[in-house]
Amino acid sequence: MIIQRVVLNSRPGKNGVPVAENFRLEQSTIADTVQEGQVRVKTLYLSVDPYMRCRMNEDTGSDYLQPWQLSEVADGGGIGVVEESKHHNLAKGDFVTSFTWPWQTAAILDGDLLQKLVPQLVNGRLSYFLGAAGITGLTALLGIREKGHVAAGANQTMVVSGAAGACGSLAGQIGRLEGCSRVVGIAGTDEKCSILVQEMGFDAAINYKKGDVAKQLRELCPGGVDVYFDNVGGDISDTVISQMNQNSHIILCGQISQYNKDVPYPPPLPPDIEKIQKERNITRERFLVLNYMDKQEASVLQLCQWIQEGKLKVRETVVEGLANIGAAFQSMMNGGNIGKQIVSVSK
Ligand code: NAP
Repeated sequence: MIIQRVVLNSRPGKNGVPVAENFRLEQSTIADTVQEGQVRVKTLYLSVDPYMRCRMNEDTGSDYLQPWQLSEVADGGGIGVVEESKHHNLAKGDFVTSFTWPWQTAAILDGDLLQKLVPQLVNGRLSYFLGAAGITGLTALLGIREKGHVAAGANQTMVVSGAAGACGSLAGQIGRLEGCSRVVGIAGTDEKCSILVQEMGFDAAINYKKGDVAKQLRELCPGGVDVYFDNVGGDISDTVISQMNQNSHIILCGQISQYNKDVPYPPPLPPDIEKIQKERNITRERFLVLNYMDKQEASVLQLCQWIQEGKLKVRETVVEGLANIGAAFQSMMNGGNIGKQIVSVSK
């Protein structure tokens, strides 16, 4: 059977900026027959995520991420529909997902490695299982619960960087649902800031590309910052940490501003900021959602319930067509997305 697939065409280099041309669309084939235990799936949605930047390097710098190989098919979170099955638990028409879905229009996969999806849990919005009801939502929820020390009634102020992105837009809303009394976002355009406040219930948002972030933060967080959900690192995070309170908490989710640099993860803080962190007893422990998968099922149900109740507003930026996945990745890394970046493959 003839299929289309996307392979890694070239590496940007550890200090390079990734571009769409780092990926290549090509024609390939898959077997015509399905073996016992396997299913043939048609791909519906693929996820593009910042961590993939590390997979473009020859060495990802972490033991839980494998590098993509040149001229070999890329992979990541994906959703598809079963078209033929020789697996005891999967039938034609079932919707399934995997963290290692190949970037191709159809594939033959081991049924044991797929999770069956229940579309009703997300009001039929299947792609949410890659975002708000998937690893992104889990990252926001479990990051806050495991590292945020949020307590209802404690009058805490939360700041979120990368706030209009996939994790950030959920983290601010979940911070509020879990009990923060004030939530302030930091994002890269006025449009994003307006969506955060008008649609997602943030109290305020700062466009970090305009004006003085430190000054705005002081005005918008008069009692200081108690919880910082950090997606970006770098200058923005240094500014936020400078305004954090004694015994406050950083949720070290990601450091996207450093991903095109050859630095260790997590990158060390500059000495003056590290001094503040130590003197004020600010926690900054590494958080990795994959370490909490025992909490996946209950947490996904919680996220789905909030979505169904309208308590969690979800935004996606959907790009049509497998051929455009490299461009979608480039755009997301440059701030072109609002909410979760998804590639729709079926059309
Ligand atoms: P995302 O925020 O949807 O997309 C990336 C966004 O980051 C862009 O839209 C851009 O928005 C912003 N950005 C890019 N370069 C920037 C820079 N130099 N400075 C400030 N902002 C920049 O991505 P996501 O999927 O939600 O992931 C957010 C973070 O969480 C990433 O660091 C990711 O690696 C991390 N993550 C961690 C875990 C975990 O287990 N710890 C799991 C999933 C994701 P602007 O317009 O605002 O610049």
